[in-house]
Amino acid sequence: MTEPLHDPQAAARFAARLLAWHATHGRHDLPWQRDPDAYRVWVSEIMLQQTQVATVIPYFERFMRRFPTLRALADAPEDEVLHHWTGLGYYARARNLQRAARMVRDGAGAELPRDPAALAALPGIGRSTAGAICAIAWGMRTPILDGNVKRVLARQFAIDGDPAQAATERRLWELAERLTPQEDCGAYTQAIMDLGATLCTRTRPACALCPLAESCRARALGDPARFPARRRRRVLPERQCQLLVIRDADGAVLLEKRPPSGIWGGLWSFPEIPAHEDAALACDRIVRVAPLGARRGNAFRHTFSHFHLEATPVFLEVPAVPAHVLADDRLIWYKPGGGNLGFAAPVKRLLDALHEAPDVIAWSDR
Ligand code: SF4
Repeated sequence: MTEPLHDPQAAARFAARLLAWHATHGRHDLPWQRDPDAYRVWVSEIMLQQTQVATVIPYFERFMRRFPTLRALADAPEDEVLHHWTGLGYYARARNLQRAARMVRDGAGAELPRDPAALAALPGIGRSTAGAICAIAWGMRTPILDGNVKRVLARQFAIDGDPAQAATERRLWELAERLTPQEDCGAYTQAIMDLGATLCTRTRPACALCPLAESCRARALGDPARFPARRRRRVLPERQCQLLVIRDADGAVLLEKRPPSGIWGGLWSFPEIPAHEDAALACDRIVRVAPLGARRGNAFRHTFSHFHLEATPVFLEVPAVPAHVLADDRLIWYKPGGGNLGFAAPVKRLLDALHEAPDVIAWSDR
């Protein structure tokens, strides 16, 4: 392909091929494509940031049923928002979404700004997400550069630098700017995202079906999956902890709200203590009564972006707990199966196991 930075006709042909392909082969029935108002596009773009389409669909539909408008999201308790995000991971996305909704609700006009720079200034919305909202919801000519688009452009132009490096990213943004057409920007945006998600996939690009095959330099070089350069995998450090599953005589479980930032920020979890700490003493410290029995469960591993966590649940049974412990609003007694709270996925799994088979985990070796 002639360098599109210097050839507007090549850029126009690129967009035309993509649009024609999308009209026939693109995805047109995703839930956020029905009635694509800015709020729905925004929520879908945030959910899709780290998550596959098939996983996002049921979450998006449930989220929209509960929070059909920006106002409904802004007014909701944070616990409910996190509850509807439980299992999607990267919970900062949900907290930022609601923070941004509250900022918009409390600002002039109480609507998402039709301005990419103003959108990008809201929590959790970067330049690419702002571009996608403006293009899809309002048809504005605002380029995007999400992971899929980076891959397509890096292959089309055989750009082999790491897209995480500023110089490579700048180059890709220049190409994205230049290639975005004057017309049909919403369809173009969906088309290039779709191409990256369905044909130009990370490991096995389907070049034989690709409408851009003719102009693709990476394909001509014979090994398109080599582009863009992969980041070297870091060896993640390991951390260990214990999670105290403290149950009272009624089967209620003590949960603690985690601080707003950090891992599982703002979610409800079992009290966490260091791996070397005595669990019975820690239980006594937290609920001011000694446990009647304790049993260690099987450790599980959870990987975060920057470390692996090996968590060992310790099941502790306690008698009645002094009332003043319950006055702390970061602690609740929770009956598994009830309440709309946000949990990290491993916490939810343990709570579900307790709900379904309370005696399996219980006090066999007291
Ligand atoms: S030809 Fe292959 S590598 Fe190039 S954009 Fe199309 S699917 Fe991707």
